[in-house]
Amino acid sequence: MSANDEHLVIVGNGMAGHRLLERVLAHPHRPRHITILGDEPETAYNRILLSPWLAGEMDRSALTLRERDWYTAQGVTLIAGERVTAIDRQARTLTTDQQRRLGYDQLVLATGSQAARPGVPGDDLDGIHTFRDLRDGERLARLADTGGRAVVLGGGLLGLEAAEGLRKRGMTVSVVHRGPHLMNRQLDATAAGMLADELRARGLDVITGARLAHYGAGDDGRHVANVALEDGTTLATDGVVEAIGIVPHIDLAKTLDLATGRGIQVDAYLSTHDPRISALGECCEFEGTTYGLIEPIWRQVEVLAARLCGDTPAPYRELPCATKLKVSGISLYAFGPITPAPEHDVLTYHDPQQGDYRRLLLRDGRLEGAVLYGDTAAGPWYFQCALAGQDLSAGRQALLFGEHDAQPLLDTPDTLSEEAA
Ligand SMILES: Cc1cc2nc3c(=O)[nH]c(=O)nc-3n(C[C@H](O)[C@H](O)[C@H](O)COP(=O)(O)OP(=O)(O)OC[C@H]3O[C@@H](n4cnc5c(N)ncnc54)[C@H](O)[C@@H]3O)c2cc1C
Repeated sequence: MSANDEHLVIVGNGMAGHRLLERVLAHPHRPRHITILGDEPETAYNRILLSPWLAGEMDRSALTLRERDWYTAQGVTLIAGERVTAIDRQARTLTTDQQRRLGYDQLVLATGSQAARPGVPGDDLDGIHTFRDLRDGERLARLADTGGRAVVLGGGLLGLEAAEGLRKRGMTVSVVHRGPHLMNRQLDATAAGMLADELRARGLDVITGARLAHYGAGDDGRHVANVALEDGTTLATDGVVEAIGIVPHIDLAKTLDLATGRGIQVDAYLSTHDPRISALGECCEFEGTTYGLIEPIWRQVEVLAARLCGDTPAPYRELPCATKLKVSGISLYAFGPITPAPEHDVLTYHDPQQGDYRRLLLRDGRLEGAVLYGDTAAGPWYFQCALAGQDLSAGRQALLFGEHDAQPLLDTPDTLSEEAA
């Protein structure tokens, strides 16, 4: 195995940073010296699994991606529990909050994002939580141990997973969502209505089209005791979870005069305008897009790992991304636009008895968007058809029933033309 002599430093030992490390280590021309540095005290863990862990569906140990001795065995220096506070681009050094100084040849910023805050009166009260990391998860689990009531702000993926987790741990939970219906970035009104019905049947209180006005304190003046909405509704509560969006960590990049928008701006090879500094994951921005799901981040990792090891990879490009909800017993799958354009051919199947709903948006015979609720088995096939830009016109009449029914129709024209030839 040959290695290059550069010192690669990855800042952020989260999902993107860790995956990058794994991919670089698997490369025959990996940098000889690698340091990964994160402000969370533990080794890398699977953030996505925080939701099923909160819901009591898995052990804490299942979240760990690698133990400490793995880093040693790979010749990687792990610095856990230290925050990078300054970077000197000229000297090519960084400094941590524990005054450690480190040189680099290549630096990767994989600092992720933080929970967005609503910025309303009372948001500094105790008992207001976010759901971003293990410590948040542990705080929420302790809150749930007390029983009582919780209000979750945000009826998107994260908010609903947090709400279900708290409910399953015994709390009475209200979800307050600003949009007209739950998951309005991923679902149409019909699928969202089915989702809301299912969650209500489980005991969640779902309030949509509602705006937060302020938080109110209890008798001690310190702990949140109620959530006031703009329409005058007041919800009594023992704790709040804010899940209203994310804000990329760009503070470090700003101090370096790197180009930033919502995220740290990178090119299609994940490089900032300083060729020694790259960024990826939720902290980066590519062609105006920032990220909140893992699938595009995995594709960024492949590009950056190859480049850091001396290859010339194909550039990163934006592709549609599919959404799933990790709430057991609820199956939904969606990608593409939510609102049909006038030129879309809209195919719909709805069986309220079975709890099945499918809506496909086609443009010129090509699938651009799908919303599936209930039986979502065909979701990945639809997604592949959309990515491939496949003309599905010949299978249109059977498309709603999935690959098994549609594929014979799609195969027919080719078979006929082969026979004719
Ligand atoms: C509860 C939950 C469930 C999710 N479920 C899904 C899902 O089902 N599907 C999906 O696609 N996505 C899901 N996501 C989103 C997914 O986890 C993120 O997109 C992904 O973690 C982003 O990876 P990242 O490395 O960019 O950021 P992160 O994973 O947040 O990692 C960034 C790391 O950098 C550290 N850091 C920040 N600043 C510094 C600094 N200055 N110095 C040192 N370290 C620093 C942070 O503490 C953190 O450890 C979920 C997220 C959460 C919170």
